[in-house]
Amino acid sequence: ISDVLKRPSPGRVPFSVEFMPPRDDAAEERLYRAAEVFHDLGASFVSVTYGAGGSTRERTSRIARRLAKQPLTTLVHLTLVNHTREEMKAILREYLELGLTNLLALRGDPPGDPLGDWVSTDGGLNYASELIDLIKSTPEFREFDLGIASFPEGHFRAKTLEEDTKYTLAKLRGGAEYSITQMFFDVEDYLRLRDRLVAADPIHGAKPIIPGIMPITSLRSVRRQVELSGAQLPSQLEESLVRAANGNEEANKDEIRKVGIEYSTNMAERLIAEGAEDLHFMTLNFTRATQEVLYNLGMAPAWGAEHGQDAVR
Ligand code: FAD
Repeated sequence: ISDVLKRPSPGRVPFSVEFMPPRDDAAEERLYRAAEVFHDLGASFVSVTYGAGGSTRERTSRIARRLAKQPLTTLVHLTLVNHTREEMKAILREYLELGLTNLLALRGDPPGDPLGDWVSTDGGLNYASELIDLIKSTPEFREFDLGIASFPEGHFRAKTLEEDTKYTLAKLRGGAEYSITQMFFDVEDYLRLRDRLVAADPIHGAKPIIPGIMPITSLRSVRRQVELSGAQLPSQLEESLVRAANGNEEANKDEIRKVGIEYSTNMAERLIAEGAEDLHFMTLNFTRATQEVLYNLGMAPAWGAEHGQDAVR
């Protein structure tokens, strides 16, 4: 992925998509179809998030195995939650055997209450930077191309933006090649993150920062995502969505969606103008909303059954 980010693609901004391990087999099948749809639309890579534990982790592993066989560049996420160092090494070896060398190195959040206190695991690691160190100091893992998370509004556990910058830079200096941001809804926050990192370290701070964009399709869902991620919903955006809902979200869901997709499109346009290296769509496993934004940007055909979309959502 870092090679693709370095290669300029004249007249075209690359985009990528993120999926989550779904809850059931039918949704998993839709995910494989969606991955194919995005591949056909020219996605630079697809990523699969790493669940908090148990069955979602099994699904992540199965999805990674299946995507590894498809002609897609796949980015696998890995977190420290509930893993010992040895377990993490075993997972890294499994990814390597599958040829999955693009990895997003993350700490993860405590299961149950993601905003609650971090819980250490005996024999485990505590910061994403330690996972990067583990990989970089182990010769058998040298093939991994590493990305990390970054936070336009600062990570919610960092006391100040300076502290956030310091720890983000530590991951980039430690060997991560790029970052993907948490979702955000004000492009200024993304630009300020970029400024902070470059000002603090013109070499490592200038590595690509891929903006994470969540296409907005519902008021309830955007409020929930904001709550889980620690991002802020700008009051003007919230007011527009509330106005579109007009007191009845269900009855006015098309209006809300229209406002949301337009907002996400405007954000993407500004990010392209500001030179973002790739647009990373956090799809929440909904293909259509992302394709609608891509269509508005002139980067994809209109949503329609002829492109295989009848099998996805
Ligand atoms: P870290 O870089 O370890 O930072 C965590 C906190 O500790 C920050 O506040 C940081 O400032 C602070 N810190 C870092 N190093 C030090 C240090 N040495 N001393 C003191 N403080 C320090 N979660 C999942 O569970 N699964 C996923 O698949 C997933 N995918 C994600 C994808 C993206 C693009 C993003 C942006 C987030 C994702 N997350 C995922 C959520 C992420 O795991 C959480 O936001 C988590 O709280 C922070 O992870 P991190 O890797 O940035 O942690």
